[in-house]
Amino acid sequence: MKITDFTGEDIDKVVSYLHLACQQLIVVDQLPLDFNTTCLKIFQTSSVPELNKVFDTIKLSLRLGIIKSMGTEEIFIQAETRYKELLELQKWNVRKLQQSAFSLTKPNKSNITCFKCQQLGHYANDPACPACNSPSD
Ligand SMILES: [Zn+2]
Repeated sequence: MKITDFTGEDIDKVVSYLHLACQQLIVVDQLPLDFNTTCLKIFQTSSVPELNKVFDTIKLSLRLGIIKSMGTEEIFIQAETRYKELLELQKWNVRKLQQSAFSLTKPNKSNITCFKCQQLGHYANDPACPACNSPSD
């Protein structure tokens, strides 16, 4: 599982997904001992180096014993906090976000009215227009 699998690399969605997974695993008593390590790894798979670096640092601090342990909730809080900061700084420039923003700027033809035939959904110069190819009088 990678952060880039989520549209717009939405960390809120990633966190709620992992949160749910964690709860379900606890219910069936199957929560792996390395669940936190897995979470740390997942949070390093974004395309935003600023976020990946945070978890790189956490992993290193845990290995060097600077941090003794970090709970799953703490990892989620770190991820969400950093995500919000990066959003506010407009540093969350992930490719998928830009793509969806681009598709939103495309004109929505369903609301336009053709001035030739008065039908909805196309312009007068559109070949789909029944009046487009007919000779004008
Ligand atoms: Zn038309």
